[in-house]
Amino acid sequence: MVRMAVMGASGRMGQMLIRLIDESDIAVLAAAVEREGHPWLGQDLGLVTGTGPRGLIVTADWADALAGADAVIDFTTPSVSVALAAQAASAGVAHVIGTTGFSAEDLEQIAQAGQAGRIVRAGNMSLGVNLLVTLTRQVAAALGSEYDIEIVEAHHRHKVDAPSGTALMLGAAAAEGRDVRLEDVADRGRDGITGAREEGAIGFHAIRGGDYVGEHDVIFAGDGERIVLRHVASDRALFARGALRAAIWAQTQGPGEYSMLDVLGLARRD
Ligand code: NAD
Repeated sequence: MVRMAVMGASGRMGQMLIRLIDESDIAVLAAAVEREGHPWLGQDLGLVTGTGPRGLIVTADWADALAGADAVIDFTTPSVSVALAAQAASAGVAHVIGTTGFSAEDLEQIAQAGQAGRIVRAGNMSLGVNLLVTLTRQVAAALGSEYDIEIVEAHHRHKVDAPSGTALMLGAAAAEGRDVRLEDVADRGRDGITGAREEGAIGFHAIRGGDYVGEHDVIFAGDGERIVLRHVASDRALFARGALRAAIWAQTQGPGEYSMLDVLGLARRD
């Protein structure tokens, strides 16, 4: 059995992960971690989630949680994930990062932790979205810059970062297909007198509202035709299943920072 620690145990993804681990035949919940001051701290996890006492106390002690775990699954905030990456690497615990909204500096620190530790980081853990990443790269490479690329995403009203981590992954794949750097061509959230669209730009637009789980369109708009690649997530268990799969996969890997494309065997080999 692979022993899992769940960071952000009371969060939307944290609670979903706990349910999934409880149903799993190969994973077992070893620790449930929350932030200092959280009302769940010191309580029996089963009592706060309403499933009945289970003898697992929610903790804020990372070292203790990591000591009893083979993998830690982390859907929290960028500052938590960056700090945890270093600590999980020193503890020899695989770290699955689902958190989004990292700065370039954060990503640099995570990459450093990945030199000694095993990290799987993905802005989206679903099989369908990772297939979409591969398709986006291929279509962008096939079509050339006379097709304008626009990425439109929609998420629930609680999401705090934009564009979504998934939209950025799709943008990076499109840029890779065109052999350019996303930083050089990204056009985020137009407003006002923006001037005409620049050739080669990759546009991003974010819809926020209601209970959208996550929707992404990659639009290739040419003269006389449009191609739209679309993924619609309707259940966040999708992401939790991917994260669990990543944590189990990481048990057989050496040090490094991996993506879901690696986990799913979709990574490009060239
Ligand atoms: P949420 O706000 O419901 O949950 C975050 C949890 O982290 C909260 O319970 C919070 O108390 C906890 N937390 C904060 N600081 C902590 C600390 N120091 N120690 C332990 N726990 C701490 O958010 P959510 O909807 O579950 O999303 C979390 C993150 O995951 C976001 O960045 C979101 O964009 C991302 N996400 C990624 C995917 C994916 O497939 N990669 C899917 C869904 C969400």
